[in-house]
Amino acid sequence: MTRTDLAGQQFGRLTALRRDGHDTSGKTLWLFSCSCGGLVRARSEPVISGRQVSCGCHRAEVGRAHMQALHAAGVQKRPRSTETRAYMSFVRRRRELQRLGSQTSTRQYIDGQPAPL
Ligand SMILES: [Zn+2]
Repeated sequence: MTRTDLAGQQFGRLTALRRDGHDTSGKTLWLFSCSCGGLVRARSEPVISGRQVSCGCHRAEVGRAHMQALHAAGVQKRPRSTETRAYMSFVRRRRELQRLGSQTSTRQYIDGQPAPL
C-alpha cells in the first residue's frame, strides 16, 4: 500500500503539514493548517477529493451566510419579549393620547366650553 505524501500540498484552504496518527478505522490522519490560521486533523481522502476545504471556518461562513439569507427572508423572526410588547403598547397608547390631546388643543373654546366641531 502506497502512502500518499501530502506534506506541503494545498487543498482549498488547507495545507498538509504532516501525518498525525490514525483514526479509529486505521486511516492515516493528517495535520492541516488552514488559511484562517486554524489547525485541523483530518483524513486525507475527503480533503484530496475536495469535500473538506477548511478547518471548519468555511462551513461556518456558509452557515452564517445561510442564516443571514433566512433572516433577510424573515424566517428568523424572534418572538417579541413581554417587555418589548408592553413598551410597544405603551408607545401606542401615548401616541393615541397625543393625537387626542392635539385635537383638543386645536378646538376652540367659547366661554370655557369647547366649540362644536
Ligand atoms: Zn479555517
